[in-house]
Amino acid sequence: MKLVFDKGSPGRTGSSLPKMDVPDESRIPQSLRRSTKAELPEASELDVIRHFLLLSRKNFGLDTHFYPLGSCTMKYNPKFHERIAALPGFTLLHPLLPQLRRGGALTQGALEVIYETERLLSNLLGFKQFTMQPLAGAHGELTGVMLIAAHHKAAGETGRKVMLIPDSAHGTNPASAAVAGFETKEIPTDEKGNTDITALKASLDNSVAGIMLTCPNTLGLYDQNTREACNLVHEAGGLAYCDGANLNAIIGRVRPGDLGFDVMHINLHKTFSSPHGGGGPGAGPVGVADKLVPYLPISRVAKRSDGTYALEYNHDNTIGYIAPFYGNFSIILRTYAYLLTLGREGIPRISENAVLSANYVRQKLKNHFDDASRERTCMHECVFSAARQARNNVHAIDIAKALIEKGIHPPTIYFPLIVKEALMIEPTETESRETLDHFIEAMIEIAELAEENPEKFKSFPSTTPVGRLDETAAARNLDIANLAGQQ
Ligand SMILES: *Cc1c(COP(=O)(O)O)cnc(C)c1O
Repeated sequence: MKLVFDKGSPGRTGSSLPKMDVPDESRIPQSLRRSTKAELPEASELDVIRHFLLLSRKNFGLDTHFYPLGSCTMKYNPKFHERIAALPGFTLLHPLLPQLRRGGALTQGALEVIYETERLLSNLLGFKQFTMQPLAGAHGELTGVMLIAAHHKAAGETGRKVMLIPDSAHGTNPASAAVAGFETKEIPTDEKGNTDITALKASLDNSVAGIMLTCPNTLGLYDQNTREACNLVHEAGGLAYCDGANLNAIIGRVRPGDLGFDVMHINLHKTFSSPHGGGGPGAGPVGVADKLVPYLPISRVAKRSDGTYALEYNHDNTIGYIAPFYGNFSIILRTYAYLLTLGREGIPRISENAVLSANYVRQKLKNHFDDASRERTCMHECVFSAARQARNNVHAIDIAKALIEKGIHPPTIYFPLIVKEALMIEPTETESRETLDHFIEAMIEIAELAEENPEKFKSFPSTTPVGRLDETAAARNLDIANLAGQQ
């Protein structure tokens, strides 16, 4: 397929403007004007429409295909919530519109949405209050560990520099702790897939600021030592952080605040009906227990006694701003719509069906791939190892390419790091039994091919516009024009 730059011909345009009938009095100084013409595509409107429509058809997304990318919760986002988010009363708002003055209260509705979503999440997850501002999961983590730092600082405990992180935690956890100025210490996972309590006990002293547990952990397992780990860390004077990005596994069934966590982030763009991927807008709200409320970022949305809503900025101990204005409002709005659509009865069914789907896939595939779930019921995703196939020189990446050959999006591979040749499959609650069966069948065929004809994998994928790339070169010396030439 040609690039849009290669279409059309010199002088062709997509629109014609009338000749200028006023003097050219641009205020841009001569020194700042370009001396050569911008090399923009010169194509007709029809050329451009066809170009982008054909490109969009090459797009691979949830609206076209099953997408079992582990730890990402690529579930279907009902279009109804997209319609709510597109209502002009919301999309035409500007963050600097007046909040409160009578007659000018144009943002009251938006503030109410933020306030009500915050209240619903606090109740659902067992926290005192949420900040809705963080713009991604990892941004929520950073906010959360900054709150932990602020708490210790206010208590005069400046020697608490160490953040304990199990090796089954998400990779962003140590990064966030390091950015906030903590040293990180790894805690091993025991043979059942839980935090190793003996190792945890041995690490506890007055240098410990807290622990960051990923719940469920990256083996797709519920950490049965969660309460004990939180208690032990509390006794040692530290705080407990919950990485709740994979809330889809427990939503409506468990309130992490009740388990002993002091602070938690969730990913609205995973669990709450918001599209994600491609670096699009996200939201990673952070919930806190009572003792961390004073440090929450500003601004905060408050409800006044007369029923109106207002942004508050005056909190002496706040960590300050972590995002402009109120965070990614349209994601919060989708979340609100989703929560109201599902209600108290619908919300627990998310996790019930997500866990059921993952265990269905696990049971059907466990004789064909090595199961990394330690013989346990998994949560929202199941983790396998391709170690058996690797003995025939068919690695996790080859299995991913074989799935692409069959038109199926691969699972997450080589993550978590504690599983060799990891295949992390998250089917989500929105897929039908038929879709899961189709995937399972494809995986079994792949396992058989790895026994019978392992050489064949090197030719995959052959059904896509671009075949197998040198992945290092693709990252380091990306050459789009050359790629386009291959198609
Ligand atoms: C996705 C994920 C994150 C990071 O979220 P981003 O929005 O990508 O920053 C953190 N922890 C876990 C467990 C995740 O699955």
